[in-house]
Amino acid sequence: MELDSKCPTGPIETRWDRHRFNLKLVNPANKRKYTIIVVGTGLAGGAAAASLGELGYNVKCFCFQDSPRRAHSIAAQGGINAAKNYHNDGDSVYRLFYDTVKGGDFRARESNVHRLAQISLNIIDQCVAQGVPFAREYSGYLDNRSFGGAQVSRTFYARGQTGQQLLLGAYQALERQIGAGQVEMHPRTEMLDLIVIDGRARGIVTRDLITGKIESHLADAVALGSGGYSNAYYLSTNAKGCNATAIWRAHKRGALFANPCFTQIHPTCIPVSGEYQSKLTLMSESLRNDGRVWVPAVKGDKRPPAAIPDNERDYFLERKYPSFGNLVPRDVASRNAKQVCDEGLGVGESGLAVYLDFRDAIERLGKPVVRERYGNLFEMYQRITGEDPYQAAMRIYPALHYTMGGLWVDYNLMSTIPGLYVIGEANFSDHGANRLGASALMQGLADGYFILPNTIGDYLASEKLPKVDATHPAAREAEAQVAAITKRLIENKGTRSVDSYHRELGKLMWEYCGMSRTAEGLRHALAAIPVLREQFWRDVRTPGSGEELNQSLEKAGRVADFFELAELICTDALERNESCGGHFREEYQTPEGEAARDDANYSYAAAWEFRGVGNPPALHKEPLTFEYVHPTQRSYK
Ligand SMILES: Cc1cc2nc3c(=O)[nH]c(=O)nc-3n(C[C@H](O)[C@H](O)[C@H](O)COP(=O)(O)OP(=O)(O)OC[C@H]3O[C@@H](n4cnc5c(N)ncnc54)[C@H](O)[C@@H]3O)c2cc1C
Repeated sequence: MELDSKCPTGPIETRWDRHRFNLKLVNPANKRKYTIIVVGTGLAGGAAAASLGELGYNVKCFCFQDSPRRAHSIAAQGGINAAKNYHNDGDSVYRLFYDTVKGGDFRARESNVHRLAQISLNIIDQCVAQGVPFAREYSGYLDNRSFGGAQVSRTFYARGQTGQQLLLGAYQALERQIGAGQVEMHPRTEMLDLIVIDGRARGIVTRDLITGKIESHLADAVALGSGGYSNAYYLSTNAKGCNATAIWRAHKRGALFANPCFTQIHPTCIPVSGEYQSKLTLMSESLRNDGRVWVPAVKGDKRPPAAIPDNERDYFLERKYPSFGNLVPRDVASRNAKQVCDEGLGVGESGLAVYLDFRDAIERLGKPVVRERYGNLFEMYQRITGEDPYQAAMRIYPALHYTMGGLWVDYNLMSTIPGLYVIGEANFSDHGANRLGASALMQGLADGYFILPNTIGDYLASEKLPKVDATHPAAREAEAQVAAITKRLIENKGTRSVDSYHRELGKLMWEYCGMSRTAEGLRHALAAIPVLREQFWRDVRTPGSGEELNQSLEKAGRVADFFELAELICTDALERNESCGGHFREEYQTPEGEAARDDANYSYAAAWEFRGVGNPPALHKEPLTFEYVHPTQRSYK
């Protein structure tokens, strides 16, 4: 299969403008003749549904939560990047572009990343106009702070609740369109299949999570903004409901899945505390602006952190990376934390933690300033651990957090199924092998507010899309398939809970396809996962019925998809014989222990085609070329 990225050529600064000019337009009076389905109400889906409604399209929008404003984006804490250069510290669109291509370890498309950096400016203006309460300086200017992988302050924030405030902005815009009758909202409704007619995406099959009703919704195009798949690892910083079902079932209908093994492990999370824990909590990267990461200099030092003097501490990030210090990118910070713990220097009961210490910041800035910047994060830490971070250093450890992989899309955000668009974390996006902090919110809103509303019109104006309805055989077949899976899960009188299988799968993934990977470990996982998957289908117990609210049933379907996706993640990780960004293969590292890329052989996006459960998927490659930011060994020293 030929993967045409449709990336424009010519000077990078004008590519998006020229591309937009060349896209066909739908006449304003004709927009009401089209219906677009948007799955997801997070920052990507919410922004897209509101913007498409505002343009005059009929929109049908879906989410599985009881309200669109409960999408997982609400959890985002630290901030959103934009190259406004308010601090006059040398930032520019080009620098954000450069940092993002480099931060992603040269595994993203230059054209996309430059467009993202350009649009970052519009996002802040749009959100301010909506009334998003970004933090301000005394002068009234919007305040900024720094995130990993950057030496400038470009992260806009609203205390530690940036996602919530941005989502309220998108949600209000969405509600306006719901009120105006442009958007038909379907909360508590889960997409369980994609309807493909004559090779084009024409609708979805859903299950009403309250009544269990399975039905088809038809449209002229479908956009998936269904979020990431970190929960394939069971323990992650994502909300418990986050899942891969929408994109996975679209993958099974023909959409290629790109770079599934590019998963991000965030360095600063509250460490695992026991076998029955069901999720992990993030401590925002913003804390690394003022917090210092360290471990005791000698093994077995059990003194409380405050009793360990400076000369007996190892501030390992500051020591190894003097230029970026504690603000190295996430992949680098996570690997270094793992390394010191593997060397036996970890702290806490499990030894799987390092300190994040605000002692010096409190001395320098005073408690009120620290409280103003990070108060709600400190409170969250205290509520979960019972320890007061104003008094004692926090303990943190890396955890699964974000997935750079996702459905392959071209420059227009269209997947390999014509008419199927993918936005936000659900696509394979612009972050290459490692996302920089505060760039996911930027990408989700760029996709939803600014890119999709421009590109989807080109498709609608170019295609002849005959009217279709739910009696179409393709819709009937998809509905029957969904009903059959639901029935099989309910009728299985097994012995083990869905969660117990999910936990076992997550352990395999974390152990063999987590922070570091080896060919041997990946082969082990690839042998173990299908065995566990078959056992799951034979032995899972799903209580209740399919005609009511049944969260076990919802979870069972999602975990069934995680099993298949997990196999693809490991296959991709095994195939990529190099280290890059979050994909660290132990066999491929520099003498200093950094990721060693193999540009000659792996400078491509790996896009996988589904060939049936248990059959090896087919690999298609989209070559990546770099005209502006030339691939070098990433250095943050
Ligand atoms: C704790 C935490 C903190 C973070 N902090 C930051 C930060 O400070 N800055 C930053 O840039 N990024 C941050 N991120 C990452 C960022 O929040 C996410 O990448 C981003 O919000 C994803 O947005 P989205 O719109 O793509 O998906 P989501 O917000 O996950 O929304 C997915 C939507 O899809 C719907 N959906 C999913 N599947 C289905 C289905 N089958 N049927 C119907 N509906 C479905 C859901 O109901 C939901 O509405 C953070 C992530 C976490 C976990």
